[in-house]
Amino acid sequence: MKYTISSVIVVIIMLISLIAKAQKQKCATVHLLEKRVEKDSSIKQRLKQSEIQTQKNIALLRQSKKALQIINIPVVVHVLWHKPIENISNEQIMSQMDVLNEDFRLKNSDTLPQTHPFWKDMADTQINFCLANTDENGNATTGITRTYTDSISFTGQGYEKYTASGGKDNWNPTQYLNLWVCNLDSSSGNTLGYSAFPAEMAISPADDGVVIRYETFGRTGTAGSGGWTYNSLGRTATHEVGHWFNLNHIWGNTICGDDLVSDTPPAYDSNYGCNGFPYNANSTCGSDVNGEMYMNYMDYSDDDCMNMFTLGQAERMQAVLNGERIGILTSKGYINIPNKVVENFVANTITISPNPNDGIFVINYNNFNLKNTSIIVVNILGETVKTIEHVENNAVQINLSGYTNGVYYVQIISGKSSVIKKIIVAK
Ligand SMILES: [Zn+2]
Repeated sequence: MKYTISSVIVVIIMLISLIAKAQKQKCATVHLLEKRVEKDSSIKQRLKQSEIQTQKNIALLRQSKKALQIINIPVVVHVLWHKPIENISNEQIMSQMDVLNEDFRLKNSDTLPQTHPFWKDMADTQINFCLANTDENGNATTGITRTYTDSISFTGQGYEKYTASGGKDNWNPTQYLNLWVCNLDSSSGNTLGYSAFPAEMAISPADDGVVIRYETFGRTGTAGSGGWTYNSLGRTATHEVGHWFNLNHIWGNTICGDDLVSDTPPAYDSNYGCNGFPYNANSTCGSDVNGEMYMNYMDYSDDDCMNMFTLGQAERMQAVLNGERIGILTSKGYINIPNKVVENFVANTITISPNPNDGIFVINYNNFNLKNTSIIVVNILGETVKTIEHVENNAVQINLSGYTNGVYYVQIISGKSSVIKKIIVAK
């Protein structure tokens, strides 16, 4: 009997450790980095140097006492699909862009209440994300690539990032944030996604970017499907893009570790699910009465439990934009459309009517050749509000009735040419 109980206990411990192991792979960023460091010790040295530079840049930022700059990050989304369901819709991609812009700009609807002790630490990072409208060769683009792949699934080891291995090569990583969306299989464990750190870009530029499984990308369509209910709000990308901007896990990847950010309280380990506040107050790691910041995007809590970056994290992200990711500041990947003058094809052939109106516009091509034509609608801030790819009809309806009154720009892209038309929503 005693032997049987011991066996059961051993089995239970094994199961718990297996589950823990699987949980630890929720984000594979650090695990993959450690594997690369094992193979190439020079990466460790580069990470150290990068951190020294980051700290210098943070000090300079503080000295200058300037408000953080608002920065637009041109994004290209590479959709890799084998089954049609993996070829996610433009709407789903737009929903991910919305989540990134809400979370990084503190416009999310679930921010902490003013009475919460961590409220004062919440940050608007001043970082915006826009789907690229200009590709590496200067051609107009929707900022989305779609690739059918013979690979039934990917293992989360980097093959997604190479055309030669069934994925898609990244666009110049100094100019674009590359996001791959694909089917990550069971050999990737519970990996929702992973990112490369900025320090590695000089060593391995082709690996720069963020990979996310299609079941946890955005907050509509396939988001939350396949058992990923707790990751249905697009925050896998918020977390992984945080790594892309040089943020570490809140627990510093070891028991009571350091994430190199001063305003995130010490944390014992990663947190899953959704803890109650305060959690692990006055811990041996040194947390105070408010405990751990499990609601930080850089923890492992469920999507509906995380809701903030801190001011220190925002500073660290801005520091890397003056460091390894400085190329983004002069990227041609996103050109603010109102300033863009590209009227080099039959602009007058295309009409949009009625204009102004209360939201329903019809673009009439008047038999213009529609081959490879796409449409992007942006608002006055240059934020994309609608994307239509592969236009097939001569009369295309755009419904902006759910959007606020004001000026919008319709960019019609055909091959290497594009034309911009202004429309006005007036209800
Ligand atoms: Zn992570």
